[in-house]
Amino acid sequence: MSSIFQQIIDRELPADIVYEDELCLAFTDINPQAPVHVLLIPKKEIVSMATVKPEDKDILGHLMIKASEVAEMLGLSENGYRLIINTNEDAGQSVFHIHIHILGGRKMTWPPG
Ligand code: 5GP
Repeated sequence: MSSIFQQIIDRELPADIVYEDELCLAFTDINPQAPVHVLLIPKKEIVSMATVKPEDKDILGHLMIKASEVAEMLGLSENGYRLIINTNEDAGQSVFHIHIHILGGRKMTWPPG
């Protein structure tokens, strides 16, 4: 059984897709924690930041560039936004296909909970 995010990539599960290219997909989080909450994922199934390999350099670089562009497209750049990659248990990672949370549209607090 493939992961929830693989099912979204394969169009087996519906999602509100806001951006797609040959390497990645961005869609609205089903349980938003801010007025704008989008998840950006690689189409390659990388489990977490804890398992990235040197050969993932290009896709990880691509994701960071696209995170910036998607945030701009969503109107977040001027006021700001937060990018989060929860990794393994202590950070509360619940889907084991690496994803960048793009959160914006409200003031964030620091430190995070
Ligand atoms: P994590 O907790 O792993 O950092 O983040 C996983 C995120 O995926 C959560 O914010 C959760 O709301 C979101 N999520 C889980 N299942 C689905 C789904 O089926 N569709 C969408 N759009 N988001 C999901």
